[in-house]
Amino acid sequence: MQNGYNSNIIPPANNEPTIIKTDVGSKNGQEKCPRCGSTDISTNTNNGKLRCNFCRHEFEPEKVSGMVEDISKLQGQVMGSGATDIVADTNEVLTFKCSSCGAEVVIDTASLSQARCHWCRNTLSVNEQIPNGSIPDVVLPFNINKETAKLEIEKFVGKRKFFAHPKFKEEFTTENIMGVYFPYMIVDVNAHANFIGEGEHQTRKYFRGSGSNQKAYFDADLYHVEREFDLAISGLSVESSLDKLNNIALDKTNNVINAIMPFDVENSVKYNANYLKGYTSEKRDTNIDQLRTIVDTEAKDIARFTANETLKEYDRGVAWSNEQLNVKGQQWKAAYLPVWLYSYQQVNKDKKILHYVAVNARTKETMGSVPIHMPKLIGVSFIVEILGIIAMFLVDFDYSFLFLLSGIIYFLIMFIRYRNANARHTYEIDTKKNITNLRKVDNFIKSEKGLTNSTMNGANNKRVNGETSTSKIFDSFTGQNISNSVINSVTNSSSIASFIKDNIEKGGKE
Ligand SMILES: [Zn+2]
Ligand SMILES: [Zn+2]
Repeated sequence: MQNGYNSNIIPPANNEPTIIKTDVGSKNGQEKCPRCGSTDISTNTNNGKLRCNFCRHEFEPEKVSGMVEDISKLQGQVMGSGATDIVADTNEVLTFKCSSCGAEVVIDTASLSQARCHWCRNTLSVNEQIPNGSIPDVVLPFNINKETAKLEIEKFVGKRKFFAHPKFKEEFTTENIMGVYFPYMIVDVNAHANFIGEGEHQTRKYFRGSGSNQKAYFDADLYHVEREFDLAISGLSVESSLDKLNNIALDKTNNVINAIMPFDVENSVKYNANYLKGYTSEKRDTNIDQLRTIVDTEAKDIARFTANETLKEYDRGVAWSNEQLNVKGQQWKAAYLPVWLYSYQQVNKDKKILHYVAVNARTKETMGSVPIHMPKLIGVSFIVEILGIIAMFLVDFDYSFLFLLSGIIYFLIMFIRYRNANARHTYEIDTKKNITNLRKVDNFIKSEKGLTNSTMNGANNKRVNGETSTSKIFDSFTGQNISNSVINSVTNSSSIASFIKDNIEKGGKE
């Protein structure tokens, strides 16, 4: 980073937050089908609507009312009543009188939001919010059924059978996959962004020298660049359980659950316990204050990538010296979002790793981690290495020394393809946003000749600050610091390093 770099996020004025009651009209107790009076109501996964399981009557989903719809008008802190701070000494056990037979029914809201009356078998629900994090403002219903999710998981694992651990191959079955509602915060942000810096546009690329001494040179035009705009971000989603926020956990592959975002959160509906019937759910255990830094950092990354859409002519990059995000308003909603989850515990001596394969139960987006049979992968990588060394002597190629790395590169590509340690939610691109009042300054400074770097020195416009470093995760899995040292130090040509990195990233996709 160059000297004088200045970056800040100005939070909204510190007034009392506006709390919008989202459980208006919600009732605890029995909810009866208006047509037949049954209380056996659950989600129809073909369309995500609630349905009476007795007479098949379908309920029209209810939307939460009172939240700010036009994000560009959002001021200060706004939150749904289901997103307010968790109160530690909340009484989590509720006792109801069954309205059909008069019996007492106890529901421990720490783990359940529904219970059946032992005597008359009617279902009783908790729909009114209690401050223990168990009742969110909204829920996004499952609309991918279990059979479809099973197929997606089998397809994903099927493509990764060759190097899969034999014990895993033997034990793999999708019979025990679970439908889980994980807790998230859905955040809207109204902000003003201001970026100031310098950008470079390539005008010429040429070569000097010959044979192995040939070298590439670049000419470029340097500009003073400014971008200032209003930015409305809608539906940014972040995990709100401490466990899932830990994306670099060593004992479980949480990052694959992170990677199946985004969800179509705009289709979320008002919370109703009947949506949870047949699924498990995990309670929220964080408050907005704990998530604020993550949200602010991600909002700023989104602003930077939004600016990039107006910077296409700066093909060598832009080096911002000043980045400012002035947050005028923020709106928070607590949500349950639906995930189909396969999990497998790999035990290797005293080390345990929980591998997940997760399916977004709205979009079918699937990501996972498959345990690797290391002796086989190392063996095949070794053969690739030998072939690479032979190829080095046979092929006339400027960077033929790269063949020396072929075994390691093969190992890395396969490792990432099976374990997906670098998978994450690319929120900086995927989040919905709207940009208005764009002000652009592009002032020519000078032409530069004979540059040796293919990209601008100090360019920082593609930086993602909220990203957990790929190599850090990778190294934590392997227990060795090899990924970056292999990729960066052996090759000092940045274009080759990025070629390898690109291919490793491609290897992990699908
Ligand atoms: Zn009915
Ligand atoms: Zn009863």
